[in-house]
Amino acid sequence: MIEVKDHQLECTKCGNAFVFAAKEAARFNEKGLTNIPKKCPDCRAKERAKQEQKLRVAVNCAECGVAFEIPFEPARNADGTLARPVYCVEHFERPDSPATPATS
Ligand SMILES: [Zn+2]
Ligand SMILES: [Zn+2]
Repeated sequence: MIEVKDHQLECTKCGNAFVFAAKEAARFNEKGLTNIPKKCPDCRAKERAKQEQKLRVAVNCAECGVAFEIPFEPARNADGTLARPVYCVEHFERPDSPATPATS
């Protein structure tokens, strides 16, 4: 249980002093959380925003050339070109996964 009182804390990220209020402590206890936040509300909000900001990389389909976005940074050659071809939804196939075995 977190002690229900105003905790004077120092953000481990930016070093700013912040207050973890008694009512917040009570809410944490209600939720069963046992760790007092180590970062100030500002830093926590920024981290949350960062997590929600999805990575979008513009690429072109190796098959039809259509431009689209992928949610990860693809491997690239030294000259910046893609190390492996990427495909749009229409032309995307998974060579790694074996084809459905025939049941016959
Ligand atoms: Zn901070
Ligand atoms: Zn395509």
